[in-house]
Amino acid sequence: MKRARAVFTVLRGRHVMWAASVFVGTIVVLALLLPRTGSSESVGSHSPLQGWRIVVDAGHGGEDRGVCYFPDALIEKEINLDMANRLGAALAAAGAEIFYTRTDDVFVSLEDRAEHANAVQADLFISLHVNRIPNHPECFGAQTFYYPTSEASKAFAEFIQAELLRVDPENYRQIQSGNYKVLRLTNMPAVIVEIAFMTNERDRRLLQDDAYRDAITQAIVAGVIGYVESTSRSAE
Ligand SMILES: [Zn+2]
Repeated sequence: MKRARAVFTVLRGRHVMWAASVFVGTIVVLALLLPRTGSSESVGSHSPLQGWRIVVDAGHGGEDRGVCYFPDALIEKEINLDMANRLGAALAAAGAEIFYTRTDDVFVSLEDRAEHANAVQADLFISLHVNRIPNHPECFGAQTFYYPTSEASKAFAEFIQAELLRVDPENYRQIQSGNYKVLRLTNMPAVIVEIAFMTNERDRRLLQDDAYRDAITQAIVAGVIGYVESTSRSAE
């Protein structure tokens, strides 16, 4: 009898231990599942570009039309402005403060574009263009350019180019350095994104495709976020 009670006590002890561990386990699981409202982490994931000042530069404008393909009514200055509006809105949605070098069909000099970016003390500068290589209709694909001596701009360009290639698996273009005035005269990491080739038939079709313009926009945003996160990691 005495022995039986002892066995019962041991069994009850084990049962209590088991119940306690299940209870603690449930609490831990619940804590992990609960949304982390109010923490800086959840705020950050919704607005990853919070506090970043970004200049969105629509290339050309006014009397400077850029590269055109009239049979398809493709005019670079118009495409760039449309892309700038898309990109500015998408970056703003991710929390960035946006500055445009032009919001209309007006001529703005390259010096004024760079000066504007420096004056507002922008953190990043993104210029949007359409590419061309005369006599090379086979060249296609979006490509990102940076100023040769700017390591930060090169890193920024790499993040964007990687995302551009994800949008268009046929595209094999890599980042390229170039001595362009808006890149040379701006004080912050700066890139030119050539979103497609006007001189390539496949790219001209893509330029007329709303989904392509949106996909390129999202790719640039993803590249910006990737770059921004890489800089905050290295700053820690
Ligand atoms: Zn251009």
